[in-house]
Amino acid sequence: LTDVVHLLIDAEHTIATFESDDEEMCLGVNSRVELAVVNAAMRVRLLERLMLAGVTIEDPGTTYVDWGVEVGRDTVIRANTHLLGRATVGAASERGTGCFLRDAFVGDRARVVSSHLYECVIGSGCGVGPFAYIRPNTVLAEGARGHLGQAYREWQSIRSPNPQIFALGVKEVWETKKPLDVVIHTLGWPLPTDAFGGSFMYPMGPNRIALGIVVGLDYHDAGLDVHELLQRMKLHPLFRPYLEGGQLLEWGAKTIPEGGYHALAERFGGAGLLMVGDTAGLVDVPSLKGIHYAMHSGMLAARAAFAALKSGDTSAEGLAGYDRAVLESYIASDLHRTRNMRLAFKDGLYVGGVKAGLMTVTGGRFPGGKIEMPEDAATPRRVEESAPFSPDGKLTFSKLDAVFKSGNATRDTIPSHLLVGPDITGEVADFYAHVCPAGVYERVGDEVRVNPPNCVDCKATDVLGPRWTPREGGSGPKYRDM
Ligand SMILES: Cc1cc2nc3c(=O)[nH]c(=O)nc-3n(C[C@H](O)[C@H](O)[C@H](O)COP(=O)(O)OP(=O)(O)OC[C@H]3O[C@@H](n4cnc5c(N)ncnc54)[C@H](O)[C@@H]3O)c2cc1C
Ligand code: SF4
Repeated sequence: LTDVVHLLIDAEHTIATFESDDEEMCLGVNSRVELAVVNAAMRVRLLERLMLAGVTIEDPGTTYVDWGVEVGRDTVIRANTHLLGRATVGAASERGTGCFLRDAFVGDRARVVSSHLYECVIGSGCGVGPFAYIRPNTVLAEGARGHLGQAYREWQSIRSPNPQIFALGVKEVWETKKPLDVVIHTLGWPLPTDAFGGSFMYPMGPNRIALGIVVGLDYHDAGLDVHELLQRMKLHPLFRPYLEGGQLLEWGAKTIPEGGYHALAERFGGAGLLMVGDTAGLVDVPSLKGIHYAMHSGMLAARAAFAALKSGDTSAEGLAGYDRAVLESYIASDLHRTRNMRLAFKDGLYVGGVKAGLMTVTGGRFPGGKIEMPEDAATPRRVEESAPFSPDGKLTFSKLDAVFKSGNATRDTIPSHLLVGPDITGEVADFYAHVCPAGVYERVGDEVRVNPPNCVDCKATDVLGPRWTPREGGSGPKYRDM
């Protein structure tokens, strides 16, 4: 630093003296040790300035704030928080323990807990974490009805010709005494004729089989219960002989995006982000084919991301090659061929079956155009009496036993990750109880009781009722052979 005087004189600048009462302002830095001392002094000053401006800093000793960071009044910053780069935090918000923000903007009243956020915007009043990692150049592969994909599409106003629609699939893996040497698929049965779906059973090995049932969430009977349908189905002579004397190894449930070609978003990503697989709605319902598309779209996304990173351009334009690659791939041509098939079944099994047959014969050209589809949640439901069902614990199982077989060992005291609306009537509580395959909702009198630890994250109620939000890290089902 002392060399500066000579350099300035040589460059004919004016030199003057300045007296400071503040010794720290004149500290010299000639070694890394001295640099650390200056940094520490600077940090104390920055934190003091924030505290005097109305920010609560729980533990200044473990809080690091860069020069230029802005924090609004009445915000609480908990221990071990780093606010770096050009981070901006709004007023009256809260940073939970262990947050790391670089170049992130967090709005007023937002709550961030134990998370890493880079170059992102968290809106006012939003909650993030615990354990969220948000960064640019991300490929979203969070499956059907992912909350990040939903938020991204909403934020970016990304539209699609039809809204996305979903089915709920419930599946079991069994160890059997009798080997299965055929593949069984049913369409329609054992569902009511105004619902779309079917069942499957196939071998997974000499004494292991998978069976399940898939039901479109635009069904009309409010009492339809997909888990219960599967339990009843197992008693049918088509399935029973294989299962009797066997053992249920695993149980699981998941939604499937069924909207097909007409529900594809106008783009599959944007600056620094690409969506693949179920998150992008890439499932062909007639062939129940989603795994191939998830893998292929993942490969196309990897190629697009590699090219963009290599050229240093991860803007929306830099990554637009991914959209083109998907639309030119067999994924888009497959989905285009079957574009109206699933949608035709909104008029029931028989009319839909005839239309779908004609579409198959004509390669999707008949009847052409686009069948309009409302969101699943907009489907009118009717309430009917249904016969009670008692599982026997050998061939058929209660929802509680099923959740146990999903490997879900979530502790009973997790904070609820399910947002249930106000004023839920007894009838609506009944509906939620039937929708949820995991027994999370119960009708108690005329109210709804919620048991969040049971949740297996299938997202069915996120489509039809209470919203699902990310839950405590490490909780939830632990699928092995699903
Ligand atoms: C009952 C049933 C039967 C099916 N049968 C077939 C079939 O025979 N053939 C076929 O091709 N397809 C089938 N499918 C569809 C197929 O399973 C999906 O299309 C495919 O798995 C989609 O892959 P994906 O990687 O996009 O999503 P997923 O396989 O759903 O993977 C997404 C992963 O992301 C995780 N995740 C979600 N959110 C987060 C988060 N915030 N942080 C971290 N992780 C997160 C999820 O836990 C999940 O592990 C079936 C689906 C069901 C439900
Ligand atoms: S509460 Fe959980 S398990 Fe039940 S339907 Fe909703 S997401 Fe699925």
